[in-house]
Amino acid sequence: MRTRRSLLDLDDLAANELNEVFARAAAFERERPEKRLAGVACVNLFFEPSTRTFTSFNLAELRLGGEVVNLAPKDLSYLNKGETIEDTVITLSAMGIGVLVVRHPEEGFPASVAMHFDGHVVNAGDGTHAHPTQALLDLYTLIEQFGSLHSRSVAIVGDVVHSRVARSLLAGLKRLGANVRLVGPEVFVPEHYAESAVAVERDLDRVLPDVDAVLLLRIQRERFSGTPVSDEEYIARYRLDAPRLAKLRDTAIVMHPGPYNRGIELDESVLRFPGWLYTRQVMHGVSVRMAVIDLLVNGSA
Ligand code: ASP
Repeated sequence: MRTRRSLLDLDDLAANELNEVFARAAAFERERPEKRLAGVACVNLFFEPSTRTFTSFNLAELRLGGEVVNLAPKDLSYLNKGETIEDTVITLSAMGIGVLVVRHPEEGFPASVAMHFDGHVVNAGDGTHAHPTQALLDLYTLIEQFGSLHSRSVAIVGDVVHSRVARSLLAGLKRLGANVRLVGPEVFVPEHYAESAVAVERDLDRVLPDVDAVLLLRIQRERFSGTPVSDEEYIARYRLDAPRLAKLRDTAIVMHPGPYNRGIELDESVLRFPGWLYTRQVMHGVSVRMAVIDLLVNGSA
């Protein structure tokens, strides 16, 4: 039996483990598992606001029978008592905490936590760097629709450069053989992405008829200053709305990691579109997180 210490990004999972996460998530959706985390303490340490991911990890841990403690920055005495995060983590390790789920605005923060922690660290989003469980639930949702993703065409639209979701998902899609098109203005999708074997596109209208799936991104205003592109221009060129939905294939699907901004990257017609899979993504998020934590703690089946 081989256990993985941490999930900091998708490449911490080998190819067979990716499939194992998906299979385990599917099994957990068919039948509520027994208490596979009985006696395992899980601490959720969120330094950035979160609704979906925070609730989803909580539910995942509770459904597996874990002992759950939630910590927000205001609860962390180390921040104003001169202790370092390393020492806080050493303290949490000494309490026998098994799983630490960490979200932080700084890239690499969960990785540095993992260096001092005896248990398993799960990255719940670090700055613009990575969001592996979001990528896993997005991949799972795509696989549920299409089976193999090999040669499937996926457009990721919007603020790619500031998106940890896009970064992790892109890596996953490439691993599974999908053709990825990054769509957006130069400020959000710099030309250099074309070097990493993905297509860079500026014209969403031209791309829509050719793709199996569209993943919309929120503009990450908290991660940059100024207005690199006006709302009017963005809406005119990139908002998914009824005329643009009409350009999609009948079988195409639309996804979004949430939170979505109505009126900016999408309008109300997207929320009524039969291929809008946002709530399925959220639903799968819980089971995928259960699967990840179970794999880390209990190892391969
Ligand atoms: N919820 C995702 C994240 O934490 C996407 C977003 O915030 O736009 O990165």
